[in-house]
Amino acid sequence: AAKSRGKGTVARFEPSMRSEEIDRLELEDALRLAVRDEQITVHFQPVVDLRTGLIDGFEALARWTHPTLGHIGPDRFIPAAERTGLIRQLGRQILEQAHAGGRTLAARAGRPIALGVNLSPMQVTDETLAERVRELRDLDPEVPLVLELTEGMLLGHDLPTVAALTGLKQGGVRLAIDDFGIGYSSVGYLHRLPVDVLKIDKMFVAELHDPRSRALVAGVVAMAHAMDLSVIAEGVEDWPSATAVRDLGCDFAQGYLFSRPLPLAAAADLAAAGPFDLAPAGPFDLALS
Ligand code: C2E
Ligand code: MG
Ligand code: MG
Ligand code: MG
Repeated sequence: AAKSRGKGTVARFEPSMRSEEIDRLELEDALRLAVRDEQITVHFQPVVDLRTGLIDGFEALARWTHPTLGHIGPDRFIPAAERTGLIRQLGRQILEQAHAGGRTLAARAGRPIALGVNLSPMQVTDETLAERVRELRDLDPEVPLVLELTEGMLLGHDLPTVAALTGLKQGGVRLAIDDFGIGYSSVGYLHRLPVDVLKIDKMFVAELHDPRSRALVAGVVAMAHAMDLSVIAEGVEDWPSATAVRDLGCDFAQGYLFSRPLPLAAAADLAAAGPFDLAPAGPFDLALS
């Protein structure tokens, strides 16, 4: 930072930078203890079948409330876990909790319930994770696991990653591309990887009033279906969006319209309840601009 200020300035102590660094170290220390004491829990958000209104599965989302620092979002602590290497242990805890939760959800729903689990890059090539995934799958075929990966992780599609993903698939799980469409916008990897599901990023869902965004989603859906992948729309917050993504051919939807991510007990009540009514009263067409 001192350099970029140019001639005539000198590097000096910067209170803001310093405190950022302290924040980071404090966060990492707190995280180490939280992982040690297994204080990070998972919440469950339903994924709804747009033909039937039935809950097809849930996504497990990590949650952390620290006694003094308060609620800390996964967008902060997952990167910290990746920096410190804590992600292996944490990822394992999350997988176990998610799977155990999935058993409860499937039991309450009275049918198989898919369970989406987000993976960090470091976890993909972790052989002990693959082993555990196989064990869980043998233990419980009623809880099909869907491992969610982001595009960035797959961009290089280097051999170890492809081999690891193929190994995971052979362990009986499905693979999803999360946040599809943002960031890299490369589809070249899709046909090389054993992927089953595309999750269209919420950014596109938020822009469906724009005809070009609708065209883009329609194109992604056509491509996905031609490749035998199913499509989940993320970030569906209202009925116009739900109607729009359904009309554009998305198979499933996830978002605050149906439910926020919930603690297990509340998610289980939702799983036990009937299907969502996908044709509620009123005209819900998007105001076409
Ligand atoms: P993601 O996997 O794409 O998860 C979806 C995020 O969108 C979640 O945020 C969810 O709460 C939020 N969301 C769901 N419905 C709506 C909606 O209708 N509107 C809006 N605006 N947002 C919605 P969350 O829980 O804060 O997680 C953020 C990201 O952190 C996740 O994005 C995922 O990349 C990462 N993450 C969460 N849990 C884990 C985990 O266990 N392991 C790893 N590696 N990453 C995780
Ligand atoms: Mg996800
Ligand atoms: Mg996502
Ligand atoms: Mg995300």
